[in-house]
Amino acid sequence: MKLFAIFGNPVAHSRSPLMHNCVFKNTNTKACYTRVHLHDGTKLRETFFALGLSGANITVPHKEAAFAACDTIRGFANKVGVVNTIINEEGKLIGYNTDADGFMFSIETFTNLKNILILGAGGTAKSLAARFLQEGWSVSVLNRSAERLVYFKEIGCETYEWSDFADQKYDLVVNTTSAGLKDEILPAPKEMIESILQNTLYAADAIYGKLTPFLKMAKEKNITCKDGADMLLGQGILANELFMNKTIQREEIAKWMQKSFLL
Ligand code: NDP
Repeated sequence: MKLFAIFGNPVAHSRSPLMHNCVFKNTNTKACYTRVHLHDGTKLRETFFALGLSGANITVPHKEAAFAACDTIRGFANKVGVVNTIINEEGKLIGYNTDADGFMFSIETFTNLKNILILGAGGTAKSLAARFLQEGWSVSVLNRSAERLVYFKEIGCETYEWSDFADQKYDLVVNTTSAGLKDEILPAPKEMIESILQNTLYAADAIYGKLTPFLKMAKEKNITCKDGADMLLGQGILANELFMNKTIQREEIAKWMQKSFLL
């Protein structure tokens, strides 16, 4: 029996155990997925080994600590320094990032994207910005404070604080802030969000499981929207493929994970 877990703080709300266990159960895979409330990210590695895990996902706020905890980093995670999936390969921790491709999966139906605005400058914003630039899209980042914007400027994004933001036309605006997660707050002042949405074709929110004030406003303006559920599904499918070393077909994983959203 292989054991997997999600590390986070908080972690009680996470749907990952349900998603992965639904795949394991319905594909007769001898594996189980649990959750671990981890207070101190520097304890990730020793906790992983103490529990005898075969793999793990990592959520807020430990994704950068997870990068540091790994012996080897593969693929896109190298670019962003953020890890959300770890595999135990013969006692070595191998780190991956499936968040960005998970998000790309969620916006497959959005067409002709060229000019993107990201709200927020945290770990999720980092992954998405780097992935969007890889597509050749123009990326702007708007954050309430300046400190975290430095990274985005360095990789080639336009960056704005609230105080110096100037309106433009965007094809897609993505909320990656945690505003709206546990409160009813917009990710920027109301007039600013109003005017951004006035000039945008598509809107997406990384938050799932609720209609955030941001998506509520976008829907009121008849903008085509996505909440974070499909991103969650996308990153989960890719993580499960890594956990099972591709022994289960991607379509099969997607089928059972999708079903878990109805439970
Ligand atoms: P981080 O803590 O790394 O970054 C949070 C960002 O939000 C920062 O830029 C911060 O700004 C900004 N912020 C926080 N509160 C407010 C506020 N009240 N108003 C405006 N800006 C605010 O978080 P993550 O990037 O890891 O996660 C962000 C969100 O994405 C979370 O809600 C998380 O649940 C969700 N998520 C969803 C996933 C999915 O699969 N659907 C996957 C990953 C994340 P500042 O720099 O000024 O502090």
